[in-house]
Amino acid sequence: MATLRSYGAAQEVTGSCHLLRLDNGLRILVDCGMFQGEQEEEKNRAPFGFDPKKVDLLVVTHAHLDHVGRIPKLVKEGFDGIIVATRATFELAQVVLMDSAKLMEEEYRTRFRKAQRRGEEKRVPKPLYTTEDVEATWLLTHIHAKYDKPLKLLKGVRVTFRDAGHILGSATVEIAFREKGALKRIVFSGDLGNRHDMVTPHIEPVPRADALFIESTYGDRNHKNIKETVAEFKAVVRKTLLNRGNVIIPSFAIERAQEVLCILKDMYRKRELPHCQVFLDSPMAIKATHLFSKYHDQLGPKCRRFYDEDGDVFDFPYLHLTCSVEESKRINEVERGAIIIAGSGMCTGGRILHHFKNRLWNERNSVVIVGYQAEGTLGRMLVDGAKWVRLWHEDIRIRAKIYTINGFSAHADQKGLVEWMKQIDPLGKVFLVHGEKEKQKAFKKAIRKKLGKKAHIVAPKERIHL
Ligand code: ZN
Repeated sequence: MATLRSYGAAQEVTGSCHLLRLDNGLRILVDCGMFQGEQEEEKNRAPFGFDPKKVDLLVVTHAHLDHVGRIPKLVKEGFDGIIVATRATFELAQVVLMDSAKLMEEEYRTRFRKAQRRGEEKRVPKPLYTTEDVEATWLLTHIHAKYDKPLKLLKGVRVTFRDAGHILGSATVEIAFREKGALKRIVFSGDLGNRHDMVTPHIEPVPRADALFIESTYGDRNHKNIKETVAEFKAVVRKTLLNRGNVIIPSFAIERAQEVLCILKDMYRKRELPHCQVFLDSPMAIKATHLFSKYHDQLGPKCRRFYDEDGDVFDFPYLHLTCSVEESKRINEVERGAIIIAGSGMCTGGRILHHFKNRLWNERNSVVIVGYQAEGTLGRMLVDGAKWVRLWHEDIRIRAKIYTINGFSAHADQKGLVEWMKQIDPLGKVFLVHGEKEKQKAFKKAIRKKLGKKAHIVAPKERIHL
């Protein structure tokens, strides 16, 4: 009997890594993500818990770091099988992994220099992988999956990708194989999108599943109404600009930045946006935005219309893409009327901190929080009403207005998850992954109530017989 074990994203939201073993000996890994969070470095360094050399196939649902971040480590440790993903996922993953490797290399150099002064440089752990390791990853055989076109792979296994509507290229994955003559279909939801999203709203139904592994990030709640959310965002932007201030938006580079650009462009076209300069101040978000534009035919109707009418999904006359450090520094000279979108999304590093240093003290300015801020991050401190922040040994008084706009999400909420599940007919066993345990318990109850089904919360490394 086929079995599955989760080596990440079991009762937690990061580190997605699920190993499917078939009766015929085939081993299929679904995602190989990084654990994210302050205490997680050790988990990323630890052995996988299985032999990478024995994995035949790596199926990748989408290019977020918590789904692809350990692939170069997998390759370093001997994986030389086949990688399957959509073309857009491969391209986005290259951007994400290169950025991750560069950050780790930089951090290593800084730690090494400091340790050298103490004579302890030998103790500094090497980066998990380097940019060269990332390049080596792409030398392996990879197969481009198209949505809805089943791929015949090793030993009669068929894999079907369907649009998950989460980020560009994201997919749900159906793995079908024969066991003792009978056809079995195992479905992984990957991360399931929010159908109210402007950029990637398409979530395709899956016809049937003998076993479903579904994410449960927001299994315990429903999102705020998106129309109200967008209206709130637009009002804050207008008010700040008309008050001769600047708007600072910390944003994740993939999906949220593009969503924000779309709304701003929409405002511009409807003449709702006062004259201003919009800076996308993040090399990674700029690269991602180009890729989103390249695959415009996979985006939502509004994005496609922008493309048809303007020749580009996101560009509009007020927009500046500031890639270099010099260009980024020059934004400081803009006294008023700037909208600055920069990373990191939770304000734990990156260019956003420089903009905070230059602008947080001024009460005319606004910080608009459009994404989730984890406990312990600077972003969360702002949301919680901090009065001061310390940046580069300097105390900065927070006088700018902080607006938290809660309705944006790249993930389906409880209602979205349940509706998607309803379309799967017949639906066999249900397993919950990719969620915090308390939220999974609430989701499990909702599944019981709304679908009359029992769901199982997958424990780390638990062996599940399918
Ligand atoms: Zn994701």
